[in-house]
Amino acid sequence: MATWVCTKCGNKTEGRCRPGRCPKCGAPKEAIKKEETSESSPR
Ligand SMILES: [Zn+2]
Repeated sequence: MATWVCTKCGNKTEGRCRPGRCPKCGAPKEAIKKEETSESSPR
């Protein structure tokens, strides 16, 4: 599971795949960045 953050409005969406669009502001997927979670902790 990953968290996707819209760089335009800051909306966060959880899911395995990157959402095609931001559900909040409708920004394209290019504006959505992956936010690393604590699922796997790199050293
Ligand atoms: Zn957005």
